[in-house]
Amino acid sequence: LVTLNDITEIEKKSEELRRTFSKLEKSQREITRQNRELQILATRDPLTALLNRRSLAVGFQTLFEEARDEEEELSCIMVDIDHFKSVNDRFGHSVGDVVIKLIARILTEHSRPNDLVGRYGGEEFLLVLPGVGSDIAFGIAERIRLAVQEGDDENPLSEALEITSSFGVAILAEASESYSVMLEQADKALYSAKERGRNQVVIWSSSMDENTENDT
Ligand code: GH3
Ligand code: MG
Ligand code: MG
Repeated sequence: LVTLNDITEIEKKSEELRRTFSKLEKSQREITRQNRELQILATRDPLTALLNRRSLAVGFQTLFEEARDEEEELSCIMVDIDHFKSVNDRFGHSVGDVVIKLIARILTEHSRPNDLVGRYGGEEFLLVLPGVGSDIAFGIAERIRLAVQEGDDENPLSEALEITSSFGVAILAEASESYSVMLEQADKALYSAKERGRNQVVIWSSSMDENTENDT
């Protein structure tokens, strides 16, 4: 009898242990899930789910250093929707938001898993393409430009709106001191694409720096 009681006691204890352990496992899973959610909130833009500006900067810096150390190609493409203010003015902010999401989807569809695709600002996006040089980067930007211009079959709105976009491309070169220099160059090339009439792709060239100096 005494022995039987002991065994029952032991079984009870081990059942308690199993339950405690299973509770611990459950809360561990919950913490992991919450961490994942926090990670998404901190790194993604809520409207498009693309990388936000901060995580773009972190990722770009890493890719820049890798490419420079390994002597590999790297390029970035800055994208800006043309006359977007007038889309909002004519059709309202919520239609504007739909257009931003549409562009985000086109960008994602034209990128590879190792590319960075992010929302840089309001209606401005950035692509960072490891292993990609000038010709390929130009080709990718051109394909995205056409996709934006053609709109989306499933989304009749996009055809009605006749959305176009402009692109500035910068390539990692000897003289690229940092990823932020590449960003500035892409921005200058984008500015030049706007100046030349929008709905086009422009690759940065050193003459764009001279132009800026002349302007000031
Ligand atoms: P450009 O061709 O020179 O780029 O002209 P633009 O009108 O696109 O440029 P501008 O910078 O004058 O206007 C950008 C507009 O984008 C203004 C701002 O209200 C709008 N915008 C920024 N973020 C959002 C957003 O999240 N949703 C919507 N709907 N509009 C936004
Ligand atoms: Mg714009
Ligand atoms: Mg803009």
